[in-house]
Amino acid sequence: MSEKFTGSFTQQESIPQAGIDAAMAVLQHGRLHRYNLAEGEIGETSALEQEFAELTGAKYCLAVASGGYAMGAALRACGVTAGDKVLSNGFTLAPVPGAIAAVGAVPIFVEVTENLRIDLDDLAIKIASSGAKTLLLSHMRGHLCDMDRLMSICDGAGVTVIEDCAHTMGATWNGVPSGRQGTFGCYSTQTYKHINSGEGGFLISDDPDLMARAIILSGSYMLFERHKAAPPKEAFDKVRFVTPNVSGRMDNLRAAILRPQLADLKTQVDRWNERYDTVNAGLENTPGLQRIERPTAETMVGSSIQFLLPNWPEAAINDFVARCLACGVELKWFGAADPVAFTSRYDSWRYAPAQKLPQTDGVLAGLIDMRIPLTFSLEDCAQIARIIRAEVGAVYQSIKTA
Ligand SMILES: *Cc1c(COP(=O)(O)O)cnc(C)c1O
Repeated sequence: MSEKFTGSFTQQESIPQAGIDAAMAVLQHGRLHRYNLAEGEIGETSALEQEFAELTGAKYCLAVASGGYAMGAALRACGVTAGDKVLSNGFTLAPVPGAIAAVGAVPIFVEVTENLRIDLDDLAIKIASSGAKTLLLSHMRGHLCDMDRLMSICDGAGVTVIEDCAHTMGATWNGVPSGRQGTFGCYSTQTYKHINSGEGGFLISDDPDLMARAIILSGSYMLFERHKAAPPKEAFDKVRFVTPNVSGRMDNLRAAILRPQLADLKTQVDRWNERYDTVNAGLENTPGLQRIERPTAETMVGSSIQFLLPNWPEAAINDFVARCLACGVELKWFGAADPVAFTSRYDSWRYAPAQKLPQTDGVLAGLIDMRIPLTFSLEDCAQIARIIRAEVGAVYQSIKTA
């Protein structure tokens, strides 16, 4: 242990000056609520929705209070109700099964492959065995599965797909933006995602009736005509009196902060990927460490990186993580029995029926996860890779000689 990294794994970049200026303007005029508009004004929230719809190519967009809210609204809009089974990834984070449980539905978990994507063979098996008609697909840590095959399995079985794109805003599969293949795409603008408003989220869809429902659900009262990325008025006529208000709106202050960041997203994606590539290249050919293969159809957003320490004993992994931390490199291990920080695993969500996913257990047992904030320089990323490599080397040597 010689090098020490001194950067912070949780420090984000500041909000761009244009976002700060726009936020100040909202604070000065005081119209923070999205429907509080001056004569002829579109408002920051509606403008943001138009811009996000344009960026993704979706017909409709709704900005909401969080990514978790977006998933819950999508499930409700699709008619999922108490007792329904909803399929999801065995490898994801707590807001995903939480959104399923929040509508009273029952999460059914699908295995993950060693490339951290949903196992499509197991998906077909679980569709047949559970009879579930909805999949809340989590593109966990930015790893897109073969979306063409996934959609053909789900379309063939009459399963509605809702995409959780919390980690894939800006990513594509065969050129199609993440979130555009499912009935709904759900995004988060929480601080640790790809654009930052503290809390916030989006829903996109091409389905006018389902989007009208989502807009009423979000708390539009009868003001839905103030939305500019919404379906025509007729779509609301069918749903306005039978859809409950479950308030979860975005406000103009957050939207003001987000718009300049959205305009910059492509640049930020490139910066993330340079950093990812630097860490990933630094880990090449490290004995004992397996990198994650990325399919060529995927264009990714490298805002985090994962690797596997296959068949390492628990004590060795703990030792490795502790040694890296002592060198200033914060890693998360997904194999720990008890959830730590943001890390948690399917068997710690005890509100869901107990399920066994042996393949996922095997993958998570060796899975290490690291954030890549844009406040890291490329030199920082190279140094982090050197530290990981050195500590893997030291611990792996001791396993082999033990
Ligand atoms: C962050 C996150 C979400 C949404 O989170 P919110 O904090 O509710 O915005 C959804 N899925 C995954 C995998 C996430 O990491």
